[in-house]
Amino acid sequence: MDSMVTKELGHTGVFLPEIGLGTWHYHGGPGPLRKGLEAGALFIDTAESYGTEAVVGEAVRGMRDRVFIATKVSPQNFRQEDLKRSADTSLKKLGIDSIDLFQLHWPNPSIPIEETMGAMADLVDAGKVRYIGVSNFSVGQLEKAQKALGKRQIVSNQVRYSLIDRTIETGLLQYCLAHHITVIAFSPLGHEFRRIRDCDPTGVIDELARMSGKSPAQVAINWCLCKDGVVAIPKGNSTKHILDNCGASDWRLNQEQLVLLDSRIQYQRRSHFGMLVRQWLPGPLKSLAVRAVKALPRGLRSRIQ
Ligand code: NAP
Repeated sequence: MDSMVTKELGHTGVFLPEIGLGTWHYHGGPGPLRKGLEAGALFIDTAESYGTEAVVGEAVRGMRDRVFIATKVSPQNFRQEDLKRSADTSLKKLGIDSIDLFQLHWPNPSIPIEETMGAMADLVDAGKVRYIGVSNFSVGQLEKAQKALGKRQIVSNQVRYSLIDRTIETGLLQYCLAHHITVIAFSPLGHEFRRIRDCDPTGVIDELARMSGKSPAQVAINWCLCKDGVVAIPKGNSTKHILDNCGASDWRLNQEQLVLLDSRIQYQRRSHFGMLVRQWLPGPLKSLAVRAVKALPRGLRSRIQ
């Protein structure tokens, strides 16, 4: 790795490495994360629900000042007192004095956003949080949340974005760019890399990887990074995967290669209905709905997904 390209976080003047380290289902211990930090991915994403805040704390020990740490509060803790308690617990587990980016993990329509954002602002005033972000918010939800926050800015929206899931391109991506809200792309490798391969019947990713001397995962991550205002947080469990992912920065697929990916990868853009199902159906019902939709003919499926 030569160096890591950085992108501005919102309109803050703070520049983030364009590749951060995801930690959902991470179980590699502090060592591989530390290697990623040393390779320039000085940005880690965790959440109170992941159970990885303590290992993140271990990984950054001795270099905390150089690392940008993002964590998330779960929707059931969006009441003022709960949110403040969650922040304190996260600070303790991470072993730090201030969270660089505190994100609302998912919208929660059953708790007034004014109350939640009021508590977030109080945390900034208290020096416990530097910047406020959200995750899985639609344009409408972002607008309401920003209004509730008042003069402070929502600096980021962490959302699913990859070669195979381009739902945010139907408006959210453009909105975020226009409003200086950094898009933090989660699951940039499709959550399981084989899912991306399954949508690549002609093997274009391998072809481009060979042509550019990069790995297939680097091609997939770089595709996200080619978009303005987007940073990505792939998760690797091993030093090998993490270092491979760090090598997705500091170069760019060219226009011709991007067109090839656009034309040959079978990507989806979920419909509004598909997004609602994903957000609001409880787990077991969601799996049932996903299986039922998969059984439909392709034309019909793409209209409702
Ligand atoms: P991901 O990063 O898209 O994919 C992870 C998968 O790719 C794992 O199976 C991993 O294998 C594999 N992989 C990693 N590097 C690879 C490489 N170089 N070559 C081949 N395979 C590789 O999945 P994700 O964990 O869903 O998303 C990343 C992060 O986004 C999460 O960890 C989390 O921080 C965040 N996230 C946020 C939300 C949200 O709601 N805000 C939701 C999902 C994810 P190994 O594990 O074996 O290395």
